[in-house]
Amino acid sequence: MKPLSSPKIPPPTDAPGPRKQSICTPSQSTSNANAFSILMSSHKENEAWKEASIAEDPSFKPTKSNGGRRKAPFYKVMQGMPIAVDAFRYGSIPGVEAYFLTHAHSDHYTNLSSNWKTGPIYCSEGTANLIVHMLQVDRKWVHPLPLDVATIIPNSGGVRVTPIEANHCPGSCLFLFEGPQTINAGDSTFNSPYVGSSRVFRYLHCGDFRASPQHVLHPAVKGKRIDCVYLDTTYLDPKYCFPPQPQVISACAELAKRIVMAPSVAIGDSKAPGMSGWFTRKEKPKDEKEPANEKVLVVVGTYSIGKERIVKAIASALKTKVYCDARKAAILRCQDDTELHALLTTDPFEAGVHVVPLAVITSDRLKTYLEKFKGKFSKAVGFRPTGWTYTAPSGSDTLPSLPQLISRTQALAPFTHTSLRPQRASTPTLQLYGVPYSEHSSFFELTCFALSLECGRIIATVNVGNEKSRGKMGKWFEKWETEKKKRKEAGEGAVRHRQPDYW
Ligand SMILES: [Zn+2]
Repeated sequence: MKPLSSPKIPPPTDAPGPRKQSICTPSQSTSNANAFSILMSSHKENEAWKEASIAEDPSFKPTKSNGGRRKAPFYKVMQGMPIAVDAFRYGSIPGVEAYFLTHAHSDHYTNLSSNWKTGPIYCSEGTANLIVHMLQVDRKWVHPLPLDVATIIPNSGGVRVTPIEANHCPGSCLFLFEGPQTINAGDSTFNSPYVGSSRVFRYLHCGDFRASPQHVLHPAVKGKRIDCVYLDTTYLDPKYCFPPQPQVISACAELAKRIVMAPSVAIGDSKAPGMSGWFTRKEKPKDEKEPANEKVLVVVGTYSIGKERIVKAIASALKTKVYCDARKAAILRCQDDTELHALLTTDPFEAGVHVVPLAVITSDRLKTYLEKFKGKFSKAVGFRPTGWTYTAPSGSDTLPSLPQLISRTQALAPFTHTSLRPQRASTPTLQLYGVPYSEHSSFFELTCFALSLECGRIIATVNVGNEKSRGKMGKWFEKWETEKKKRKEAGEGAVRHRQPDYW
């Protein structure tokens, strides 16, 4: 995964001494940047990306001549600081004293193992437990950090870091780095002109996150100018317009309750594909009464870490226990979540909610799974949480203006249990539901986040493998910048949020 940054970089004007090649300049108004300097910056920008592409070459083989290690692309090292984030695949990065991990998903900890001896790893308490348990990383390298508190990073030249809950998977966090630039660490040939200056830089690394008003209202972030935001742009495309996560969680819990309490009630129209019923309501009439011993098992598909909220909400609504295999249970026990731990049981027959790998939520595999619990459960409802389920109605306008996008999205009817439709493969005994449950920001949320944050430069960290896609994403960054200026001129501040946890 390669990142992308906002394309126009204003030149630094308060650089100490002669200006060297810079790829992460502090934010300033572009109005005082002449066309030539922007061109220069864009050129350097492209050069930096080329360098990054070479560094990420999938055919790379470690040899003596290349130093036996893959070079770290510029965006893995915080400019001017001896700090790397989610950069374990590059071995010992020159000048780096502190290796940060945003969360315990494999694409972020690539190569981290029991053999790690390169340097101290900083992460949240939950992530620390997970990497020690799953990867057998030696505890002596792992330094858990408290959330919401600024901690001075040793040997960093005085950089402070504040971890902030990312709203992604358990243990995930954003890192807010604040401090001076003291070293051109990393493999990039692009050096910062600010190394050695007294200027304090502020970088917000988002890792993977689902943007929420709580991020921009966080006391460590609110009202502060962020020089550079490393943005999780997984869904930076207007076609990704799934509903707020809290609404989706409540909808699943309510639907599960209705099905389990009255298993003969079929909700929705099984012919409706995907989430096209988001805006309509249909309920089938009750069928004939079923025998009282008809028990429904709720099965939720998850990855190794993530989607726990949906499981907890369903189990709480059904007042039942949660079962998963021993491997998964051990991972869940790494998390700092007493509510979840209290729900767990090792007896599958005692639990009305089972957690299984995502791939089990297909009609064939779910049927086989249900047979194992014959006598106790005769029906199953499978939830398949994914960020990809929502399909926009055909002919819908996927490219509205940003103000239109915000007003339309905020005017949408709430997502409820009637919005969930069984998938085509569902049968009277097996009902499958795709759920637009995402642990990454929707396009709308990314927009609200960007418009509500005082930030100079954005570097995307996902979905930018080639120049064309980088250009496409860069266009949105430009639109956000323009819209932000308009909002400022109109006296509008941050985007109004509907609830404390969503815009
Ligand atoms: Zn992740």
